[in-house]
Amino acid sequence: MLKEIVEYFTPRELVEAQEFLIKHFPEAAVVGGGLDLTWRERKGIKYLISLDKLPLKFIRRRDGFLEIGATTTIRELIEFFLPGDEFPDFLKPALKRVATPLLRGVITIGGALARAYPWGDLPPIFMGLESQIELFDGEARVLPLQEFYTGDFREALRKAILTKIILPLNPQKFTSYRRFTRTEVDIPLFNQIVSLEIMEGKVKWARVLMGARPGFPYEEFELEEFLLGKMLDEDLIIRASDLLKKIARVESDFRLSREYRRHLSGVFLEENLREIKGKYDSQFHA
Ligand SMILES: Cc1cc2nc3c(=O)[nH]c(=O)nc-3n(C[C@H](O)[C@H](O)[C@H](O)COP(=O)(O)OP(=O)(O)OC[C@H]3O[C@@H](n4cnc5c(N)ncnc54)[C@H](O)[C@@H]3O)c2cc1C
Repeated sequence: MLKEIVEYFTPRELVEAQEFLIKHFPEAAVVGGGLDLTWRERKGIKYLISLDKLPLKFIRRRDGFLEIGATTTIRELIEFFLPGDEFPDFLKPALKRVATPLLRGVITIGGALARAYPWGDLPPIFMGLESQIELFDGEARVLPLQEFYTGDFREALRKAILTKIILPLNPQKFTSYRRFTRTEVDIPLFNQIVSLEIMEGKVKWARVLMGARPGFPYEEFELEEFLLGKMLDEDLIIRASDLLKKIARVESDFRLSREYRRHLSGVFLEENLREIKGKYDSQFHA
């Protein structure tokens, strides 16, 4: 509940929103869908900055990229993809498993990426897709999402507004995502995204990220190195899965043990690699 609010500011220009944020931080907060702000009491927040009148609700294809405005909800993004849309083909089913239908109509892409819960689905999904984000801190800056999270992003958001996310539409890349939850509508207790570029059956480029481990999603460079240059076949899938079960940097918390998360990391890798192999085979050996 937000009991101390003295002003709900509705700017018409981005620069007004950003100047108001700087002027009133830490007593000011930007409102995306408002779910997180209302779900947990944010003590000391007196000023809310609405993004509703700013042109930040859009989804458009442009020069091989998909641009998503920060106030686009998960549901709006799901509905944007038409049956038969080829890329990113895994994204729609992955987003349909996030939270609940009602919540997907509220959660904004900007709000989820700015809040960035370590267990969240959206940070690993968009990092796995090599997304970039645009921040407005007086001027627009674009940077890779992974670089944003590696830096002190909470500090950056004290004076910046996340305005859009940019996804490269690369049909050469195949991606698969898995999340483990207690029930279908629960938050992830572990998640993993695998994205590969495959040429003539061999892995040319790999990105493997694991989140909800606990801790922020991390990229498993050792496994990526292991996959590079190898033929994506059943033997590689099993060997990669065995390796990950040994090296995965996951820990215990009150929800799951380290051992169980390590086991899951291997199981998910097998499933993700098989799904990717299936997509690759159907595209190139149909
Ligand atoms: C019951 C429940 C279930 C959930 N389940 C899931 C789940 O399954 N998977 C998952 O990934 N997440 C889940 N979430 C988390 C959810 O994604 C986050 O709470 C998210 O922040 C909500 O989005 P919002 O747009 O409503 O954010 P808001 O509440 O509007 O904002 C969240 C934070 O981000 C800041 N912010 C918002 N927009 C911007 C912007 N454009 N620029 C800069 N800062 C901004 C706000 O100031 C605030 O600090 C769940 C949350 C709840 C309450």
